[in-house]
Amino acid sequence: MTQRRVVLKVSGQSLQGSRSFGIDPAALNAIAAQIAECSRAGVQIAAVVGGGNLFRGREAEEGGMTAATAHQVGMLSTVINGLALQDAVEAAGAEVRTMSAIQMPQLAEPYIRRRAVRHLDKHRVVICVGGTGNPFVTTDTASALRGIEIEAAALLMGKHGTDGVYTADPAREPAARRYERLNYQDALAEHVGVVIDSAAISLCAEHRLPIHVFSINAPDAILSAVLHDRIGTRVGGGPTQLARDAGDRA
Ligand code: UDP
Repeated sequence: MTQRRVVLKVSGQSLQGSRSFGIDPAALNAIAAQIAECSRAGVQIAAVVGGGNLFRGREAEEGGMTAATAHQVGMLSTVINGLALQDAVEAAGAEVRTMSAIQMPQLAEPYIRRRAVRHLDKHRVVICVGGTGNPFVTTDTASALRGIEIEAAALLMGKHGTDGVYTADPAREPAARRYERLNYQDALAEHVGVVIDSAAISLCAEHRLPIHVFSINAPDAILSAVLHDRIGTRVGGGPTQLARDAGDRA
């Protein structure tokens, strides 16, 4: 396993910044600058981009759109974000290649695992768009798949609006506590699994890919997570908070 290779999930919402929709240039540039800096520091980064700031398949489905079509529209929204991120990372001084799970040769290379690894070995940032290319899952699952395929050391799950996995929804339960560590089974438990989609957790569990959950829009959050290992909740590997709590009670 390559220690200095990571997959970074960049949610669509994190590109939205303080806006109610779309891309906020300040948020985009802040994320891009940090990705470029991590790359310059020698970390191989594959960024998997979400699309929730533009379109979510499930919401459109609930509004009456044919489910598979709704998810295809959602996947295309990740391409819009990915192209914007490519431009911003390049402007920040790093070499970038965008690879798409859906063929669109005028815009991006097709995602081919061996080619992605070669780009990473040449210290190019790889931006993965188009999700998995399949409906009914999210870009969390795409991040897990890419991480496993390229043998990343960790999946850095950049979240917007939360800095980790909590015992309950902190917006509703002021006493909620953040887990420092969780094992995969605990993360899959209904009350804590809301932050990451369960298909992604299952894949990571099966392939022992650690997930590091952190708040992506905090200042220098990506640098802290990638270069200094400062993250909110670590899923997989090592003793868990729940296990320690059980030990406390025993
Ligand atoms: N999507 C999909 N297949 C995938 C990845 C994404 O169908 O492999 C669709 C899904 O409808 C999702 C939308 O694309 O709602 C946007 O992705 P996501 O919700 O993961 O974006 P994020 O919340 O991370 O911004």
